[in-house]
Amino acid sequence: MIELNRGIRIVGTDLWLDSTKARPLGFISHAHGDHTGKHEQVITTPATWSLCRHRLGTKPKPIPLDFRTTHSLDGLTIELLPSGHILGAAQILIQNGQRIVYTGDFKLKPNRTADPAEVPLCDTLIMECTFGRPKYVFPCAEEVERRLIEFIEAAFEDRRVPILLAYAMGKSQEVLKFLGDRGYTVCLSRQTMDVVKLYEECGVVFKNHERFVNDNLYGKVLMIPPYLVRTRMVEKISNRRTAVLTGWAMDAETKNRFGADEAIPMSDHADFEELNDYVERARPSRIYTVHGGPEFARHLRRRGFRAEHLAPGGQLEFW
Ligand SMILES: [Zn+2]
Repeated sequence: MIELNRGIRIVGTDLWLDSTKARPLGFISHAHGDHTGKHEQVITTPATWSLCRHRLGTKPKPIPLDFRTTHSLDGLTIELLPSGHILGAAQILIQNGQRIVYTGDFKLKPNRTADPAEVPLCDTLIMECTFGRPKYVFPCAEEVERRLIEFIEAAFEDRRVPILLAYAMGKSQEVLKFLGDRGYTVCLSRQTMDVVKLYEECGVVFKNHERFVNDNLYGKVLMIPPYLVRTRMVEKISNRRTAVLTGWAMDAETKNRFGADEAIPMSDHADFEELNDYVERARPSRIYTVHGGPEFARHLRRRGFRAEHLAPGGQLEFW
């Protein structure tokens, strides 16, 4: 049986997966705030711990596990595998007579700052399905990067400041790695710079970036988290052009929702095709979907899989 209550628990074990509520024992798949909790003992990768420990205070005791090493814990055998979402992001493989995989947030397309995702064979798969609808098929990475460069170069040609709206943890570092290595100078807000420093402590090397100090932006790219777009700091830059970088760019209304001139579909999540690809390669006999709507589980059932969507507060029997 699986319990969903601000996190996921396989009933019969004490291990909570991505619980935002403090638990005695919690696995944190990655450092985004909607996946972390102040658990007494925290199972996670060393990189994820580096990225989120400052938010969790001194109470949690980390049990940092490297990828691809098996550990015994409370009668379970566990192993962490890369999920390709952001630096340190992990899936967990739990063996208790059957192979149970929880993906956390994942992405199969290649990354510049995170280990590539692996797809283990499993009996039970608990998977995120944020973009689990057919309309969410993203262009390939080369096409997305070409659109990003076109946006920047067009802004420079018009003597405007290109402003990229990207989440401070994960997305911004992927973009900075790409643009910095290509010779663009990228100015960063404090929120993004703080995370860049944590990535650097984990060994990721970035080039050509500087803290945004509100003066000469000529010939430079500014990158900030989306929530800063409607602030005075940005409104003062009168000759700006803004692009939001998100998988939701596949929806026509996204640029208006983010207050941007353009929306570019750069995502750190699996799209609809990658979700299907994962299921085909993992070959699970039962699937639970989380972090999205019920459509993807319905789609899998139509394809002959035993799939159910986990709604918050729900409990589901293993079939
Ligand atoms: Zn995430």
